Amino acid sequence: MDRYNRRRAGGYVFDMRFAFDPDDFDLDRDFPLGDGTADVEGEVVCPYCGEAMAVGLDPGSGPRQDYVEDCQVCCQPWRVHVEYDADGHATVTATAADD
Ligand SMILES: [Zn+2]
Repeated sequence: MDRYNRRRAGGYVFDMRFAFDPDDFDLDRDFPLGDGTADVEGEVVCPYCGEAMAVGLDPGSGPRQDYVEDCQVCCQPWRVHVEYDADGHATVTATAADD
């Protein structure tokens, strides 16, 4: 019974582990990290001050990432969500972290 429950919860655990322990996954198979096409920079609009700015990305952290980063202009904390598509193009969004 325990084992069954753990497996049902596995999808969520998998996503969380992806961000922190990429060595456990064969990223090259599903994600074009190795050929240099993954974006290393994205543009976001600050949800607080409305400034658009470039943020540095780390493709090695996985195709889906969530983390907190401070605005470079107004220093408010964002919750940043990064999602890479199969071509290595990153879609980056920033939302207010204290919602
Ligand atoms: Zn700002």
